[in-house]
Amino acid sequence: MPFEMQRPPPSTAPPRSIAVLGSTGTIGQATLRVVEHLGAPWRIVGLSAHRRTAMLLEQARRTGASTVVVTDRQAWRDVQRGWPADCRLWGGAEGLVELASAPEVDIVVAAVVGAAGMMSTLAAARAGKRLALANKESLVVAGSLVTAAATESGAEIIPVDSEHSAIFQAMRTGQRREIKRVILTASGGPFRSWTPQQIEHASVEDALDHPTWNMGRKITIDSATMMNKALEIVEARWLFDLAADQIDVVVHPQSIVHSMIEFIDGSVVAQLSPPDMSLPIQYALTFPERKEGVCPKLQWQEALTLEFEPVDLERFPAIELGWEVVRRGGSCGAVVNAANEVAVEAFLNRQLPLPRIVAGCRAVLEAHHFDPNPSLDDLLRLDAWARKETRKWIGT
Ligand code: MG
Repeated sequence: MPFEMQRPPPSTAPPRSIAVLGSTGTIGQATLRVVEHLGAPWRIVGLSAHRRTAMLLEQARRTGASTVVVTDRQAWRDVQRGWPADCRLWGGAEGLVELASAPEVDIVVAAVVGAAGMMSTLAAARAGKRLALANKESLVVAGSLVTAAATESGAEIIPVDSEHSAIFQAMRTGQRREIKRVILTASGGPFRSWTPQQIEHASVEDALDHPTWNMGRKITIDSATMMNKALEIVEARWLFDLAADQIDVVVHPQSIVHSMIEFIDGSVVAQLSPPDMSLPIQYALTFPERKEGVCPKLQWQEALTLEFEPVDLERFPAIELGWEVVRRGGSCGAVVNAANEVAVEAFLNRQLPLPRIVAGCRAVLEAHHFDPNPSLDDLLRLDAWARKETRKWIGT
């Protein structure tokens, strides 16, 4: 289980050969910068993108990756002519699974967005890789399967999500049984001080204008609705084996304290750093060691104010949804995640007001036939069902 995984593995050679799934996204590009900064013996051996093949080719040349995957079939076909002969080119979702379990890969950086990353995350967990996990949705959808596969194979799951990396780091100061609860920090997103009426009329541009983090579109919208925090509640449940009442959320607008653990004696241990994903990425690659960091450091000679405020559960009903998914478990995560992905897309296409995203997730969750112990096939079926149901609910 993840706690025991914090011990360094007994293997002889430390993991150093990296496959970056989703290398053209924000996390993927940051990972390449971190690996360049670390230098040998860390090296990129595999890359993947969905459609951004020009950037992928440039990344393959720069890193010397021996295998790349293009998951979109049409983009894969289009790019085959003229692809360099010294670089293997695989296509489709199977290609991604193949790369995640390839013998030459030690570390899989799972940075695909959404449930599309689930099968490759599971493949890496089954193959006993170090899983540097940025794709939180795969734990929301199939946390029980991914963690069970990791336990069986000996795969280490090291969170890249900044909050969970903070908890993972803070955890090294205590024992699992000494944890009272974890406190996830949330920036509050762009609508922290907006009224419900203002949020009702928020535009796509408003929602994409995040105050502290520079991220991809899907996660930025998730931050605006605070669905991102709901997904992170579920992610924490699986990474650290916690109950719903052991996972708290506090709003912290500066995004400097990335999360905290409260131990049973009342001590709170936090991890602080500027809001820059290169730190949690690097920690997941170098763990259990630390290396000179690539990201800017906190400036203690300048005044620094850290604020904390309770989260407004009425304005941000997503949070309650996160706790409910943890309490009920089973099929709930897969359904809420799929509904959210469809609703976010509809919002970005200006087909849905922002508050309707969470309302849609709630409606589809309540309409679904609960399964306490779904298999992988059940989860895939539920994911497809929830997407269809959400489109119906939106009326598109
Ligand atoms: Mg996060």
